[in-house]
Order: sequence, then structure tokens, then C-alpha cells
Amino acid sequence: MQQSDPLAPEHTRTAFSVDTKKTPRDSMARVIPIVPMSASETEVARQMQICNACRYCEGFCAVFPAMTRRLEFGKADVNYLANLCHNCGACYHACQYAPPHEFGVNVPKAMAEVRLETYTEYAFPASFGALYKRNGLTVSVALAAGLALFLLLGTALHGGLSGDVAPANFYATFPHNLLAAMFGIVFLFAILALGMGVTRFWRDVSAGTASASAPAVAEAARNALTLKYLDGGHGDGCNEENDTFTLARRRFHHLTFYGFILCFAATAVATLYHYAFGLEAPYPFLSVPVLLGTAGGIGLIAGPAGLLWLNLKRVPERGDARQRPMDRGFIALLLLTSTSGLALLALRTTSTMPSLLAIHLGIVMALFATLPYGKFAHGIFRSAALLKSSIEKRQRNTLSLGSD
Ligand code: SF4
Ligand code: SF4
Repeated sequence: MQQSDPLAPEHTRTAFSVDTKKTPRDSMARVIPIVPMSASETEVARQMQICNACRYCEGFCAVFPAMTRRLEFGKADVNYLANLCHNCGACYHACQYAPPHEFGVNVPKAMAEVRLETYTEYAFPASFGALYKRNGLTVSVALAAGLALFLLLGTALHGGLSGDVAPANFYATFPHNLLAAMFGIVFLFAILALGMGVTRFWRDVSAGTASASAPAVAEAARNALTLKYLDGGHGDGCNEENDTFTLARRRFHHLTFYGFILCFAATAVATLYHYAFGLEAPYPFLSVPVLLGTAGGIGLIAGPAGLLWLNLKRVPERGDARQRPMDRGFIALLLLTSTSGLALLALRTTSTMPSLLAIHLGIVMALFATLPYGKFAHGIFRSAALLKSSIEKRQRNTLSLGSD
């Protein structure tokens, strides 16, 4: 039985349900609080009720099959579905109930607004998430500039910018152990904050979900790594500025993601060389770390540049304008990281190397420090939502409606 104030605006109603099913060990009815939904979450729930009656978009992505397993949409359902959506736009461009229709169905926009709330709600610490949400681009650029300046000044105070260091000898400017300590702290912070965020998210959305089986994990990993749903469900891709399908977004995402992985692999191999084989940087152009870093850097220029281009020309009506500073802040840091890294590689034998190294390191530290609060967090939450989707579709559908 549910009770609430029916005259209050729907999204502000507080409600509770009384579980009257008593067990022999349960002599009193239990009161289960129901968390009130935000205006954005209520709007997604409203649109999902319409879509659940229509179901025209069932084949586009994982959102609609997950929707059909539900008759009602509570906060956890809405947060799960919002992170399963990747704003491909297919359901907006195909919808006969999109504005100016009185139903006003705009699923990508409604989902984007909820996603933005989840980034803040599940962020750790939450105050960092709120700051990044409001001023993502400013925070990113200011943090990168501040850290680069700090490292430049620190190096200058020790005479490290004089240009007298041996060509390409990074460790003469920043000793290896100092670098390992600086990046170890920032990296561990990013892992901790992302881990806390996704744990909170999973705890909220996974109620009623069975344990993950190996096939479900394998399918979710495959869907995440291949960006399966960016093919639009028909293989032709997403919509951007109009009804035309394009695979550009999928390709730019792949360039960005695998560029990032290659750069990370370059650092991991260099660490292995240093500690396991006693081989110290600088490494030749045709060595494994440099080849991996160069390929990754090129991917990290082409991918984010392409995503920025698509972001600028995408139909604005289907997105959440409040998310732009966050999106562009992340893209800006990726572009600054790759361009400064490749400039450092090209000029590492010149006298500008110490300054370029300090600038590059400041930017990379800013990138890692902000990973838990921007678009990167979307990738983590989305992977968790894909895992829930893969688990859920292996569970029996208890609705047993129609063709189910
Ligand atoms: S987005 Fe529109 S067309 Fe697609 S299922 Fe919902 S109501 Fe139907
Ligand atoms: S925008 Fe794309 S991913 Fe999101 S619900 Fe619509 S079809 Fe699915």
C-alpha cells in the first residue's frame, strides 16, 4: 500500500509503502521508505510510460528491451536506464511524439539530464562532482595550468630549466622516484574515487539483479569495448545533426578510448623496462614505449577532435546544455595531453625539454585528478549498466505479458 500527498507536484511527493506481508518472525508491518525522485527522474519515468505503450524503438539500443521488463519506473530504474542510454539520438529522430507533439517525448534529452545528476550524486567526494558539473571546462583548464605552473616554478627554483640537462633525459629534470610518487598519488585517488562512485551506483541500481555469470560478464565487456550500441541497432550508426546515420561517433570514440589505452600501455611498458630490466629512459623512437605512446597520442588527437566537432554540430534539442562544460572540459584535457606529449617527444633533445616536460606532467595530473567527475565516469557507469542489462536479460521475465 502506498501513501502520499496527491496534491503535491509529482516529483516532490514523498511516499512510503507498508509491507503488510507478515512472516512468522515478523510481528509488525515494515515501513519501507521510498526516495522521492527529482524533476528530471520523474520526466524520464513519464516518458518511459509512453514508450512502453508505443515500443517503436525497441531495436535501437539496450534501453528499450530493459524498459519492457518494467511496468513502473522508480529512481533506481531511471538511473539505470539513463546510464544505459548513450544519446545516439535514434529514438528522438524516429519519434512521432517528439516536440511539438503534446506528449513532448525527447528520450535522449531526458536521459542526459538524469545522467548529469548521477555523475554528481555518486561522485566521491560529492563536492568535487558538483564543482566539476558547474564549471568543468574552467576547472580542467585552470587545474592543468596551475599544476603546470607549479611544476615549472619548482623546476626553475632548482635550476632545472636552464637547458643544461642532457638531451631527452627526463629524469635529470624530475627524478624517477619523484615522478612515481606524484603520479602514484593522483592515480590511486582517481581509482579510489571511481571505485567509490561505481560501487554506490551499483548498490542502488542492482536490487533484484542476480549474480553476474561468466557469459553475462563476457557479453557486457564485449558490448562496452566494441561500443556495440553506437551502431544504432541497425549497423549504420547514430544521428548527429539530422536524420542521417553516421558511424563517425563510434569511430572517434574508439580512437579516443584505444588512444588512451595505448598511452597507458606505453607508461606501463616503460615502468617495466625501468624496474624489471634496468633500462632507463630516454628510449629510442623505434622502442616499444615510444611506438605505443606515439600511436596513442595520434589517437588521442584525432578522437577527441572528432568528438568535439560532432558535439558542436549535434542537434542541441536532444542534449542537456548543462553538460557541455563537463564534456568540453574532458575533451580539452585529452587534447592538451596528447599535443603536449607529442610536442615533448618531437623536441625532447632541445633546450625546451624541461619546460615542456613540466607542462605535460601538469596536464596529465589534471586529467587523472578529474577523471572521476567527467565524461570518463560515464564510461564506468555505462559499463555497470551494460552488465546489469546482460544479467537481467538472462533472468526470467516475471511480467509474462503479450509475447513474453
Ligand atoms: S521514443 Fe517515441 S517512437 Fe520511440 S518508443 Fe518512445 S514514444 Fe515510441
Ligand atoms: S538516444 Fe539512443 S541510446 Fe538513448 S534511448 Fe534513444 S536510442 Fe537508446
